[in-house]
Amino acid sequence: MKTIGMLGGMSWESTVSYYQALNEGVKQALGGLHSAKIVMHSVDFDEIEKLQHADNWDATAEILKQSALSVEAGGADFLIICTNTMHLVAAQIEAAINIPVLHIADATAQQLIDDGISKVGLLGTAFTMEKSFYKDRLTEKFAIEVVVPDEDQRALVHKVIYEELCLGKINEGSRTAYLEIIQQLHQRGAQAVILGCTEIALLVSQQDTNIPLYDTTAIHAAQAVRFALAQD
Ligand code: GLU
Repeated sequence: MKTIGMLGGMSWESTVSYYQALNEGVKQALGGLHSAKIVMHSVDFDEIEKLQHADNWDATAEILKQSALSVEAGGADFLIICTNTMHLVAAQIEAAINIPVLHIADATAQQLIDDGISKVGLLGTAFTMEKSFYKDRLTEKFAIEVVVPDEDQRALVHKVIYEELCLGKINEGSRTAYLEIIQQLHQRGAQAVILGCTEIALLVSQQDTNIPLYDTTAIHAAQAVRFALAQD
């Protein structure tokens, strides 16, 4: 079994979900007392969040490059960056280390393609919904058309992530608002909706809607388990 490297703490609420999914996945595959081999570096999210909102992405990349180097030095065979947003600097992190990075958008796109989905809604931080690093990767690399909520809705989705979900707060009103936004994305032609922020599955789940949801945390963790267990 390969050792999984994790960059966690963005936020730690979703790192918990990753840690659980990785161990559940290995247990399911190998049975008994088997569990995932993991080396993790977990950051102080306050530092990252302040730099994100100051638009200082190079500084976030410097922090995460150091984290990734320590994960590599700790013996990880590959790396997962446990947040969608910070894939904005994935290329810089990848360039700093010698182990492969499993990209969260690639894992998600592959799942969408396998399920025959070519037009998808995207929920995430404003950075993920508005900047090109995520949407363009889906469109240019995988030919998946992406629809995002309108401006007011994007602001609401973003605010709920930073002011509620990353703080472990689950609010019924926010769940209703998210489900309404998911419904509207569907009406605009999205066959499915990507939960493109690793905390969103703490708020909405497939039981809440008939519209197919793609939980990036679960998909990314499952891909990491397959990669860890694959024979070379
Ligand atoms: N975990 C979130 C994501 O998947 C947001 C936190 C962050 O900015 O990293 O995008």
